[in-house]
Amino acid sequence: MHSIASLTRRVLRYPQDCFAYNPTMLRPFHIEIMHLALDHIFSPHALEKITKANLRQDRLLGQIGHDEYHFDNSTFDKSSAYLEEQRALTLSSLQAKDLPSAWLAFGRLTHAAQDFYAHSNYIALWLARQPASAALIPSEVQPMDPDLIDSPALRSGKFYWRELLTFIPPLKPLVMSFLPRDSHGWMNLDSPERGPNFPYAFEAAVKRTKIEFERTTKDLPEDLCVLFVDK
Ligand SMILES: [Zn+2]
Repeated sequence: MHSIASLTRRVLRYPQDCFAYNPTMLRPFHIEIMHLALDHIFSPHALEKITKANLRQDRLLGQIGHDEYHFDNSTFDKSSAYLEEQRALTLSSLQAKDLPSAWLAFGRLTHAAQDFYAHSNYIALWLARQPASAALIPSEVQPMDPDLIDSPALRSGKFYWRELLTFIPPLKPLVMSFLPRDSHGWMNLDSPERGPNFPYAFEAAVKRTKIEFERTTKDLPEDLCVLFVDK
C-alpha cells in the first residue's frame, strides 16, 4: 500500500511520465484507488480481475468512440446509463453464478466512476463552493454533492484530434497553447502534474468506488455477496 505522496514521487521519478501525453488517468492511480477502496472487501484474486477490467477500458479501442467509458465530452447521461448497465450486468451475472462476467462488469463500472472526477469540473465546482476561510484537505471532499452531481454547470473535457499531437513531447507546449480551454488536455486531472486539484479527484474517486460497491450489493442476497467478494 502506498500513500498518494509516495505514488506521486514514484510516478514522477521517470522523466517520460512528466512529459508524456496522458490521455487517461495514469494506471498506477486507478490501481491505487482500487486497493484503497476495495482491498478489505474482495479477495486478492477477485480484486486483480476487477482491476484488470477497470484498466482495460483505457485500451486504444476503448478510447475511440467510447466517451461513456470515461465521462468525456460532457456525456453525463450516457455515462451514467453505462454505469447502471454495468451494475445490472454485474447483478445478472451473479444470479447466473457467472463470477468472471460479474467481476468484468464491476471493473468497467468502477473505471467510469473514477474517471468522472478526473475528466469533469466536479472538483473545481466543489472547491468553489467551500468557504474561502476553510482549511481544506483532499480527504474532506464530498464525491456526491447533490447540488453538483446534476448541476447544469457540470462539464467534462472535449476531445480535439489536434490533442494527439501532444504525443510528441517537443510539440506539447505549442499544441497546448492552441487547444481550447474546454479540451480534455486542459481540463483533466489525470495525474499530479495537473496541479493541486488532482489529490481531490483521487480522494473523490476512492470514496465513489466504495459507494458504487455499496450501491451494487445493497439488495444482493448474502450468498451471492459472498460469491462476489470471493471470501
Ligand atoms: Zn478512462
